Order: sequence, then structure tokens, then C-alpha cells
Amino acid sequence: MSKAILELLGKDIVLGDGGYLVELERRGYVDSGSGREKVGTGRGSGQFTPEVAIENPDALAELHREFLNAGSQVLQALTFFATREKLTRAGYGQETEKINRAAVEIARAVAGDHALVAGSVSRTQLFESEGPSAAGHVRELFEEQIALLLDANVDFLILETFFRLDEMLIALECARGKGVPLMATISFRPLTIRSSDGHSPAECARILAGEGADMVGANCEQEPGRMMPILRAMREATSAVIAAQPAAFRTTDETASFTRMPQFPDALETIQVARQEFIDFAARAKTEGIAYLGGCCGCNAAYIKAMARGLAAPVAELKVEEAV
Ligand SMILES: [Zn+2]
Repeated sequence: MSKAILELLGKDIVLGDGGYLVELERRGYVDSGSGREKVGTGRGSGQFTPEVAIENPDALAELHREFLNAGSQVLQALTFFATREKLTRAGYGQETEKINRAAVEIARAVAGDHALVAGSVSRTQLFESEGPSAAGHVRELFEEQIALLLDANVDFLILETFFRLDEMLIALECARGKGVPLMATISFRPLTIRSSDGHSPAECARILAGEGADMVGANCEQEPGRMMPILRAMREATSAVIAAQPAAFRTTDETASFTRMPQFPDALETIQVARQEFIDFAARAKTEGIAYLGGCCGCNAAYIKAMARGLAAPVAELKVEEAV
């Protein structure tokens, strides 16, 4: 079993990467789905699929290189939303094997001996559109994608951007016992106090760790300042490694998830968070018991570099008030 990520975590805080799809959308290689498909979770949510891995592999490799250069110790293969049903909705279902394999190969080629490669598995959106009756289909989709990622030889798996704990637990069941470490991070949406199926951050952390996740935490939807209370509650609930991959978009007390903001997806530039917040977040992570730090939507290499600076700097005060 490859334990490389756990060995790294045993030494120090690990710096990851993140934000691939939004960054590649800005660069013209990913479709945001704006105005064309309205699946389940609202406006513009139906696209952001990773066919760039086969359509423009050089663009993806370049972004990996930027993260590596910024200090990322883990490169996430761009397999987010690469379950067969989601790819089918984008017109790429037939390419499911090819996209998953290519994404891992591209990340591995850039990582070489300098970084680990994680496979990303995200929600199917079927729980949002069909409800829990989709569970059987969802399980088949996860089993297929996880087998593809393990075949492609990822170092570990990141199960991320799940709004519901019940769907996450299906993914976790499909992934555990397969010989790779597992990270499981919930995206709290629309509220930061519970998952969309009603579980508090503490409950999510405890249950995910109990069900075999080596690393638990939160990713996406909020900027670092607003995510911090979620992470604190999780850290108090479990001794598992706490992982954080916040978004770089400013949310509000009324709307605590950026994908529910009216600026999503076509005016995100207007709610972009400054890199300073990521410097402060990384500095604070050292005293908050957060052991894995990456980014999510809105981040690029500059934000990872900012976190590297924060990790090297004295502990700063995280100004949550300024974040809202
Ligand atoms: Zn995100």
C-alpha cells in the first residue's frame, strides 16, 4: 500500500493544489455550462467537466507545472466530475476511461519524483436531481471511476465536493480497502453549519473517520475565513488528519456558498478573494491543527505560493470580519 501521503503528513503540513476547473475555464479550455444546462443544484451547475484532459492536455499539464513550481507537494489529477453519467451529460460518456487515464498520466508526468498524484472523485449530482433513490446507480458510477483511478496508479484518493454525507459514504465504501489512503472532504452548501442532508461538520468528521477516511475536512464553497469554524469543529471531533481546500471567492452571511451567489459562474472575478487571506490562513493552520492545505475554485498557483509563504511565516490573525 502506498502510504506516501501519510508519511509526508507525519513530518509536516502538506501543501496541495486546487482550482483546476475554474482556472481552466478562465483560460478557455473548460465549459462552465453557463446558460445551457440546469441540473439539480442551480444555475450553471451542469458542466465543469474535465474533458480538457484529452482535448487540450498541454493546457492541463501547464497548470500542473505552475502548481508544482509554486510548491504543491500533491497534484490532483483532473478527474473531478469524471463519472460516466456526468460525462455523458457533457457528451463525453464514451471517453470515460480515456479521460480518467489521461488525467492521471498528465499529472504523473509533471509530478515525476517531486509530487504525489491524487485521484479526485466528486459527487455525481444525481442525489440532488433524483434524491436518495439514485444510490444504486451512484454506487456503480463510483465503483467504475475508482477502479479506473486505481488502475492508473494514483497515490491516494481525494473524495471531495460532496454536499451530502450519504452520497460521500457510498464513495467511501467503494474506495476503502483498496490499498490507497483516502481523503474525504464535504462542501458545506448552502449552510456552513450542516451538510445538505443535515449533518454538522463535527458529525461528518467523526463518521467519515469512523468509516475509513484517513483525512477528513472541507473543500470549496467558502473562502478561508468562513471555512475556519467548520474546520475547527471537525478537528475537535476527530483525531484524523484535517484537510482544508477553501475556495477563493468571497461569500456573505446570507449566502455562505459561492455557487449560490448571483456572481456564479459568469461574474466570479468580482468576488475574488485576495491572496493575503490565503497567507493568513496557512499561517493560522499551524496552530489550528490543519495538516493538509490546498485550494479549490478560484485558486491558482499564486494562491498556493501564498500559502507556502504563510506556512513559512509567523502565525497571523485571521480576520474573519474582513472576510465577510
Ligand atoms: Zn471548488
